[in-house]
Amino acid sequence: MERPPGAAEPKVELRNVGLRYFGREGETEALRDISLAIAPGEFVAIIGQSGCGKSTLLSLISGILGPTSGDVLIDGTPVAGPSRKVGYMLQQDYLFEWRTILENAVLGAEIQGADMTRARERATQLLTRYGLGQFLGHRPRQLSGGMRQRVALARTLVTGPDIVLLDEPFSALDSQTRLALSDEIAEILRREAKTAILVTHDIGEAIGMAERVVVLSRRPGQIKSDRPIRFATPDGRRPAPFAARNAPEFNGYFNTLWQELEVHVEG
Ligand code: ADP
Ligand code: MG
Repeated sequence: MERPPGAAEPKVELRNVGLRYFGREGETEALRDISLAIAPGEFVAIIGQSGCGKSTLLSLISGILGPTSGDVLIDGTPVAGPSRKVGYMLQQDYLFEWRTILENAVLGAEIQGADMTRARERATQLLTRYGLGQFLGHRPRQLSGGMRQRVALARTLVTGPDIVLLDEPFSALDSQTRLALSDEIAEILRREAKTAILVTHDIGEAIGMAERVVVLSRRPGQIKSDRPIRFATPDGRRPAPFAARNAPEFNGYFNTLWQELEVHVEG
């Protein structure tokens, strides 16, 4: 893939990536021939049905897994293992009950052997900004699901990654909390100019949060479509995820993506 002269180098690039798992039950081809380039600061959603390889794709970008074929590059350099450039936010918040909120938020920094005074300062700043300033000394169980996910976001951002991977981060939350939090998180990631890759099986969430949606086929996951999501607004700015649901373009995108996802009720 030749880049036109002057085009920015992709932040994340996958070139003909395939991944097979080898296990006792034999071989599973999870992903096949995935090519994808994501620009710095871009917010991309990846949607697909359960088991189509979405989490596997994020593991490849984070360097937890290496591809069976093809190349994964960050800033033009092949990924050789987990790096500080990448932060990972998961469906489960994985907060530890024996640690306070602040101690949970600095966990990633601690694992990376970062300067802990600096990490605590930064965590306090982020938690305060996310409305959790009163809860620094609390335990996770004292917080609601939405608050816990904000702590998880703070933990992801404390280490200052350029790229944030979000693996169905809202799926354990009720639908109101989910909408409010997706608004907040999309805004935070845009304001901080992070490159964000959101994995979800929620079409509305993908359209609302991302400026580009990639659909994966059923296993082995292959790219079925890759399209920009644009809204005409008076001020030219992207609407917040909640407002996007009322935009005239929303239903058109939803119907197209719904058909591409080939959702069938099984049973
Ligand atoms: P998704 O996140 O889209 O639900 P995953 O990336 O978790 O899908 O998994 C893709 C496929 O690979 C699934 O069929 C899953 O069962 C299989 N898989 C995932 N992890 C492993 C593993 N460690 N060993 C064997 N198969 C796996
Ligand atoms: Mg998954």
